[in-house]
Amino acid sequence: MADDHGRFEDQLGGLIRQSKGRNDGLWEGTMTEYMALVHANPKITQLAPARIYEMIMSRGTEAVEEAEKLPHYEDMVRYKFFSGEIFGIEEVLHDLVQFFRAGAHRTETGKRILILVGPVSSGKSTIASLLRRGLEQQETPLYAIRDCPLHEEPLHLVPRSKRPEFERLLGVRIEGDLCPVCKYRLTEEERYKDHAGNYKWEDMPVVELRLSERSRVGIGTFQPSDPKNQDISELIGHVDLGKITQYGEGHPLGYRFDGELQVANRGLIEYIEILKTDIKFHYVLITVAQEQLIKAPGFPQSYIDTVILSHTNETEFQKFKANKENEALHDRMYPVFVPYNLRLRDEVAIYRKLIERSEFHQKVHIAPFALEAAALFAVMSRLKPSSGGMEELKKAHYYNGEVVREKEKDPVNAKKLMLEGREKGEGLSGASPRFVMNALNISLGDAHGGCVNPVDIIRSLKHQFEHHIGFSDEDQVRFPQLLLGEKNSVLAEYRERARKEVNRAFLYAYEDQAQALFDNYMKHATAFCLRRKLVDPVTREEQEPDEKLMRSIEEMIGIPEGAKSEFRQGLFVFKSDALERGDSFDFKNYPPLQEAIEKKLIADLKNIVSLTLADRSRRDPKTAERKQEAVAKLLDRGYCPLCAEALLEFVGEMLRKEE
Ligand SMILES: [Zn+2]
Ligand SMILES: [Zn+2]
Repeated sequence: MADDHGRFEDQLGGLIRQSKGRNDGLWEGTMTEYMALVHANPKITQLAPARIYEMIMSRGTEAVEEAEKLPHYEDMVRYKFFSGEIFGIEEVLHDLVQFFRAGAHRTETGKRILILVGPVSSGKSTIASLLRRGLEQQETPLYAIRDCPLHEEPLHLVPRSKRPEFERLLGVRIEGDLCPVCKYRLTEEERYKDHAGNYKWEDMPVVELRLSERSRVGIGTFQPSDPKNQDISELIGHVDLGKITQYGEGHPLGYRFDGELQVANRGLIEYIEILKTDIKFHYVLITVAQEQLIKAPGFPQSYIDTVILSHTNETEFQKFKANKENEALHDRMYPVFVPYNLRLRDEVAIYRKLIERSEFHQKVHIAPFALEAAALFAVMSRLKPSSGGMEELKKAHYYNGEVVREKEKDPVNAKKLMLEGREKGEGLSGASPRFVMNALNISLGDAHGGCVNPVDIIRSLKHQFEHHIGFSDEDQVRFPQLLLGEKNSVLAEYRERARKEVNRAFLYAYEDQAQALFDNYMKHATAFCLRRKLVDPVTREEQEPDEKLMRSIEEMIGIPEGAKSEFRQGLFVFKSDALERGDSFDFKNYPPLQEAIEKKLIADLKNIVSLTLADRSRRDPKTAERKQEAVAKLLDRGYCPLCAEALLEFVGEMLRKEE
């Protein structure tokens, strides 16, 4: 015990000593020493857009599957910088990185104001916060003139007339001029003058800089308050009246350079709801973006190197675009649209991420399909009807990359569908992840017994509609329909799923039975296609392919008598192709047939399931045993005993109503 305490005191003493270490071990030196650092590693002088671009690229990229690329996005990749945090909006990130690349190369495009346009909680703030955090953790160091209120680049000290030589020697480009304060110190303080009266700019002290949002270094945030009495000083600093009396009008020490733009020098300013501010703010921003200068009447001009990342919602943006008075501003802005995610699996990933970070993590059991049900509703609410008349449910599955069986001859072109959706503004409205998370949180919080199942979530979403302001009249009718409608709704889909889950649980050795049925069907269908006869294994007699067997399966998926031959031929070709490629061929390879086989098995089983689920007294030992086996199967598939029971109850109720 005494020993332990001794060790604790040592450690505490060590920590306290460390906490007093000057400057956190950051580099300090003179301008001369700094130039040696620049020569060794010119990257330390890169400007803010290049720094951000490098920060994203240095984490690496991953290829995106061809099938997921829309036209004009052929070179799209997935940026690891955003992965695990942003889901399903690869195009947006592609547009964004293109902009930073343009900025890094100092092109005109890169000198516009970046404006993220999208609905609430579509990921605009998450993008901004990832960039802010990234800058704080950036590995390439950067440096500043010590005590400069703008923590400016030390190379500004190099006199204009001498820059070409220094640029050549150091291997970098020098942009920007000294801020009024540093200029004043260099020219007025005796220590920076030699006996001949020359400025010893090479002696000015330089420190390593660490960008930090909390310390207001290199990362600024601007949020408009009341637009009527918004003060521009929040953006560009202000005159310090006390100091002006001391130093006199126009004196560089008479200003406070603490506006968000000055804070954001060397890094990034996040400008929230940019279109809610007065137009005079926009002109200040444009000068910063275009000329890297803060110019304001009565205020000393200063050089600013920052990326302006602003955002706004769709409605404000359309209003701004329609207003002729703003025309001069339009082509100074670079809008990037940030819609909601439209891919089911990514939507589920968003919820998982948020739940993992909440207090519910590990306390609550989430039943299979519960999050999927919520995601399905969210995605459907963001979709628009397609010209082909495809309803939202099917579209959601297409966008998710699932193979959806189509009776039409033409296979659906998923890319065409997505492009059309984009034109119609899909993802720019609908239920936000926040709306859905509120519903999820309520279910998770209510989870008595520690479980949440799809029915709980559907109920909770419905409840949320009644407590949400901001949906249009149209959506107020449409959303409950998408959630609870008789057809093409989340509930309808869940009914179907639940039924399948239960049937599979009841099917003893489901896969084996399905494969056996499939093999049998294929044997007869192949013989049919080749116009051959089959040999009965017992009697050794030749016989025709069994029409009754084949039809009993085909009817399950609505293949009419007249189309049976075509269906079998298609299957035969598919099988031959698969075997030729060296692929295996089982009942899961061909979704239409898989569906038919499952339906057939299930139809044969329906009575058994109904009987078992109807026997609520559980007196019959046979049904009790069967049910126990089904529950055991469900446990293997991610259900807990309570959720398994709830699922059987749900399906039992459904079957009773059908009878
Ligand atoms: Zn300065
Ligand atoms: Zn459970």
